[in-house]
Amino acid sequence: MDLQLQDKVILVSGGAKGIGGAICKGLIEEGAIPVIIDPSEKEGQGLLALAKGKALHHKKRLFSSEDAYSVVQETLKVYGRIDGIVNNAGTNDGVGLENGSPEDFLKSVEKNLGHYYYLAHFALKSLKKSKGSILNISSKTAVTGQGNTSGYVAAKGAQLALTREWAVELLPYHIRVNALVPAEVYTPMYATWIQTYPNPEKKLAEISQRVPLEKRMTTAEEIAAMALFLLSEKASHITGQHIFVDGGYTHLDRSL
Ligand code: NAP
Repeated sequence: MDLQLQDKVILVSGGAKGIGGAICKGLIEEGAIPVIIDPSEKEGQGLLALAKGKALHHKKRLFSSEDAYSVVQETLKVYGRIDGIVNNAGTNDGVGLENGSPEDFLKSVEKNLGHYYYLAHFALKSLKKSKGSILNISSKTAVTGQGNTSGYVAAKGAQLALTREWAVELLPYHIRVNALVPAEVYTPMYATWIQTYPNPEKKLAEISQRVPLEKRMTTAEEIAAMALFLLSEKASHITGQHIFVDGGYTHLDRSL
């Protein structure tokens, strides 16, 4: 299937590692031009080499609106267009009701949510011209909760709400907006989190056993495959959707 992503310029926040890294790799394989926004030097360089220079790496950790503005401006200076955004960067930072403070909570929400809005806001003029697409990477924690991580989960829930809100607002411009919802994907962030348990290997095996389809984690490549499809013209009548790529983890019968 030709996804017709050739030469499309796609911003990917957190695009060097994990899910974002797999999406960028997939974009490169499709001949698209990923704009990787991620502080990770080594992985970013690896992707640039794979793309044979047909990619950009902004070595930045997005936080403020100024960060997002400069990424959009620098991208436009080089390529003159933006065809899509994958809002993906996020950190499950464990700011809960008991183990956090009001200040920590607001900082966590801004860290995990602010730049989703900022990138979409500053890239909108370009997306209108290209009739581009926005993909928000959320998390099943937005609908299941996780405990002790209020800031992250508030941001993840808001990303689902904004997906519907932006899908409506951007209908007149033919800009599609969707959310992709992962559950258990073994990425560098997940590897760090699992190490917080006394017996990480046992915990990982327990979690994998709870995934209905094939009793295994979802791979970052399986998330990327859906991301590429949603960004492409092949998904031309899909907007405002929350798509769970999770082996049935969130919705299927608990007795399985
Ligand atoms: P990951 O392994 O930590 O990779 C994310 C990449 O983004 C890292 O290179 C990270 O750099 C970078 N990054 C973090 N914050 C950033 C920022 N503000 N600006 C730019 N780059 C930033 O994470 P992942 O597991 O792939 O998660 C990606 C997305 O999927 C997140 O939104 C997460 O909530 C969502 N998700 C993941 C899972 C899962 O099971 N893995 C489940 C549900 C949802 P550093 O390493 O230097 O921080």
